[in-house]
Amino acid sequence: MEEEFEPDVPSPDQLSAELATLDPLAVLPRPRGFSADGAHLCLADADGIETELSRASLLTHRRRKCIKKIALDPGHIGGAHARSEDRSWSWSGQEIREGDLNLRVALHLERRLLDLGFEVLLTRRSAEPLFTAPPQDLATRELEARAGLLEAFRPDLTLSLHHNATDLCPWIEKSLGIMVFLFGHPLPEEVPLQREELLHRMLDGSHARALPLGRTVVATLCRRLGLPPCTDHLHRFTAATGRRFSALEPGIFLRNLSVLRHAPGPALLVEGPTMNHCAEAAALAEACARPLEDPHPRIVQYAEGLYEALAPLSDTPA
Ligand SMILES: [Zn+2]
Repeated sequence: MEEEFEPDVPSPDQLSAELATLDPLAVLPRPRGFSADGAHLCLADADGIETELSRASLLTHRRRKCIKKIALDPGHIGGAHARSEDRSWSWSGQEIREGDLNLRVALHLERRLLDLGFEVLLTRRSAEPLFTAPPQDLATRELEARAGLLEAFRPDLTLSLHHNATDLCPWIEKSLGIMVFLFGHPLPEEVPLQREELLHRMLDGSHARALPLGRTVVATLCRRLGLPPCTDHLHRFTAATGRRFSALEPGIFLRNLSVLRHAPGPALLVEGPTMNHCAEAAALAEACARPLEDPHPRIVQYAEGLYEALAPLSDTPA
């Protein structure tokens, strides 16, 4: 077990290197140095506009800590809402709904993590949204509501669980492979509204703790699910999505996603099997139709791959 310790304040050079990785488009200001009293990091952009970040903000997640509280976010909403969210596919008369698949993975993983003594929060436990809202506002309201739950729970680690899909063509012959998104890669148009928030999140030290776990998750999921890490679709994929994210290494990507930005602490967004992959479709359609308490073997494989990655974080002997 690693004890909590008081970390050193990183140097401006170290912080510049962290920012260069997490902000590859260089849309945010860069560190210039600390204030005379050492209480603030001073940053400036190319136009000389200055920003200050408190020393406390830089240290938030640099303390090594035992992972005791894990938040699981089953991505999207399920049931009838899957169509309005555009997260549903029809296969041989059956429907594949991403939100329903993600919930089943989360429920199975929750049971396994509770057995190890982790405290677990699920951001939803049914196919229904947390609030009723007009369809056009539903996705935004849902993200806000889940951010509030995460803020209140204060997890040591957050996993947002998803199934992948590509809209390049309806059905594809080859899986996209396993993808893990970490927070990063802000876009120029996101900066005016999120500037302070982005800087705090990027320099809070959570990336250094999320990256090794992300690598383990890619490895365990690839092995359990028999899928490759996402690599070869990358160029096609990034081009089609307007370079809204970037790759760090096979399977690991950066993107400024709401759940990654708002989770207090290290956070991963995991993309499992590809829903519009011909070889997956029959199993995933059947998985949606199964009762919550009797998950399909493909769901169990996904959850067990995550469990294998998370179990060593527990105090409890595995
Ligand atoms: Zn998704």
